[in-house]
Amino acid sequence: MHHVILGAGPAGVTAAETLRQMRPNDEITLISGEGEAPYSRMAIPYLLHGQIDEGGTHLRQTPGHFDTLGINIREARAGGIDTRAKALFVSGSEDIAYDRLLLATGASPIIPPLEGATLPGVHPCWTLEDARKIVERAEPGAPVVLVGAGFIGSIILEALVGRGADLTVVELAPRMVARMMDETAGGMLARWCETKGVRVLTGAKVERI
Ligand SMILES: Cc1cc2nc3c(=O)[nH]c(=O)nc-3n(C[C@H](O)[C@H](O)[C@H](O)COP(=O)(O)OP(=O)(O)OC[C@H]3O[C@@H](n4cnc5c(N)ncnc54)[C@H](O)[C@@H]3O)c2cc1C
Repeated sequence: MHHVILGAGPAGVTAAETLRQMRPNDEITLISGEGEAPYSRMAIPYLLHGQIDEGGTHLRQTPGHFDTLGINIREARAGGIDTRAKALFVSGSEDIAYDRLLLATGASPIIPPLEGATLPGVHPCWTLEDARKIVERAEPGAPVVLVGAGFIGSIILEALVGRGADLTVVELAPRMVARMMDETAGGMLARWCETKGVRVLTGAKVERI
């Protein structure tokens, strides 16, 4: 039995390891679509802050971890699936045949349809590659505007404060982390930002860049 797992984030890696425990003799292929060792997006803020290096974002740190478990890692981006033929179409390589396929492809950030959202210097903060671009630009004193102060936005905000960026945060909702925090907690967070010199614009919509 050949198990193919598409996506080498935390879900894909955990699935591959769990399958290996349950199916010691099956073939397992984990497809990594970003050309990176399997890593955790959750560690990106610590990388931005400079508390860890890129290796610190890797989900498994022991050299040869996946080889030892007999999990094949393939670098490829899947573009389609034929469920009848049980084949996965990947870029720049022949099709990958499977018996069981698990989609662990995660999510992607919502980029608002704003004029200027694709200009140079405008980045989401989702992948290691995004983080590299942000590290290049967000130097101490560099003006940075962070659009969105939800949970993940606020974690990124703290990392940018740690880098010494000159930060302004723009949030559409009337307070920060509005879906998780009430007015008291959201207000505490906004006051913390102000003590760090961060300008907080809530109830504000970015119209163009
Ligand atoms: C900056 C940041 C901070 C975060 N902090 C936290 C936190 O503190 N706590 C928390 O709970 N969550 C946090 N999250 C969210 C958390 O990282 C995600 O919920 C988690 O990564 C989901 O894991 P996953 O394996 O399902 O998907 P992902 O980690 O997104 O992995 C999916 C993988 O599939 C790959 N893929 C997608 N399509 C294809 C394709 N066609 N072919 C090949 N590969 C493909 C993707 O490139 C990716 O590598 C944070 C996210 C970010 C961006």
